Amino acid sequence: MGGVDVAAVVSSVEVSSDNANKAGKHSQVGHKSVLKSDKLYQYILDTSVYPREPAPLKGLREMTAHHPWNLMTTSPDEGQFLMFLLKMMNAKKTMEIGVYTGYSLLSTALALPEDGTVLAMDINRKNFELGYPYMVEAGVAHKIDFREGPALAALDEMLKDEANHGAFDFIFVDADKDNYLNYHKRLISLVKVGGVIGYDNTLWNGSVVAEEDEPMPKYVKYYKDFVIEVNKALAADSRIEITQVPISDGITLCRRLN
Ligand code: SAM
Ligand code: CA
Repeated sequence: MGGVDVAAVVSSVEVSSDNANKAGKHSQVGHKSVLKSDKLYQYILDTSVYPREPAPLKGLREMTAHHPWNLMTTSPDEGQFLMFLLKMMNAKKTMEIGVYTGYSLLSTALALPEDGTVLAMDINRKNFELGYPYMVEAGVAHKIDFREGPALAALDEMLKDEANHGAFDFIFVDADKDNYLNYHKRLISLVKVGGVIGYDNTLWNGSVVAEEDEPMPKYVKYYKDFVIEVNKALAADSRIEITQVPISDGITLCRRLN
């Protein structure tokens, strides 16, 4: 920093962020992880995500963009993140709760080895069927076991069989937020020790820090307190270690300890 008085710059930052530094609040200098603009997000997509997005995933994404409930889809940067994570973990046996048209499901299936499997559950088969041709095109349909119906009942059935206990390397939860804690009670036994459960949308459109009277869509308001409860419960659960990753709408990764 030729010609710049580093000590003066540091001390001015310290003074201006004095309040923010108090008791656990983030400081300006440490505030690097939350995106500051849509432009920056577009930059990530254009630079690092879209150029590496497999063609069938791109096709599925573009098809979903025309669907009336497209708000529900997994974002492409999160899809890329899931693929990276699964490969890093060498995940082989996985589960997904909440499929919609299948962006996260296809990302998962692409990241698994040839003999890997993803058990995918959703109450709506029609939307899964819209995405299925792209899974066939990608050559990964044989890894996908789709089951239609409410996930909670299916998990209870699975728990009856000891062989399912500790059987899953990775579980992605992206369905009814008011059931996340009910899922967690069951999934903690189904994921293996050292395996990971990912709970999606744990920042819930930013509503987790909204004021009581702040205007927000009805569905956001309805699930807000459930998500806040989930975040507290996961942070207090000594059976797991966690990291809340601020990608997309927030995903909390939970690694089973014992
Ligand atoms: N992961 C998906 C993707 O990448 O596009 C998005 C999932 S979307 C946010 C939530 C899905 O959860 C919907 O498709 C909905 O039908 C499903 N769902 C809601 N309640 C459910 C339940 N009790 N059991 C299983 N699936 C459920
Ligand atoms: Ca989601």
